[in-house]
Amino acid sequence: MRLVSLEIDGFKSFAEKTVINFQTGVTGIIGPNGSGKSNIIEAIRWVMGEQSAKTLRGDKMVDVIFNGATDRAPLNRALVKLTLDNSDHYLNTPYTEVTVCRKLFRSGDSEYLLNGQSVRLKDIVNLFIDSGIGKESFAVISQGRVAEIFNGKPQDRRKMIEAVAGVGKYKADKETAQRR
Ligand code: ATP
Ligand code: MG
Repeated sequence: MRLVSLEIDGFKSFAEKTVINFQTGVTGIIGPNGSGKSNIIEAIRWVMGEQSAKTLRGDKMVDVIFNGATDRAPLNRALVKLTLDNSDHYLNTPYTEVTVCRKLFRSGDSEYLLNGQSVRLKDIVNLFIDSGIGKESFAVISQGRVAEIFNGKPQDRRKMIEAVAGVGKYKADKETAQRR
């Protein structure tokens, strides 16, 4: 499974529809401070179902919609579309190519699509659950998170390592067994 392309339209600083086609191998995104690198990563998080505006550096979710610049009026909707190659069926779906799309309007209305079909947020979250790339995973580490990990308490770091290793479930099972 790998990222094939990302379309960003009206999300954060991307007032113009922008398409990024990922090649095989490692992709690096470079650019001056404030040029939108983190916004690209946030677009990936958002389309996979991120529900926390704070994680996306905003107060309310509508803050992700392009809110204007000196020479441009604000837009009324944000759209992000992510296409993944699923020919190895890493994601639990029969599709060999998966396109997830999320739209948010200033009215607060939102829409989620899976290969062009309207779906619920839950369907998108379930698609990525246990894949290691969903909204709760550590596959995407934001800038602020790095400092949080380094400056955090050892106990918090341990929790993070346990989550990555997937031992959390076993710890919970052990505690339940010991209580019996
Ligand atoms: P750095 O190198 O400092 O980490 P970066 O390339 O990661 O920078 P971002 O943080 O992705 O940059 O982009 C920040 C820019 O995005 C700011 O100029 C900010 O004004 C703009 N921005 C964020 N949200 C919106 C929005 N809703 N509408 C318009 N512009 C926005
Ligand atoms: Mg950044």
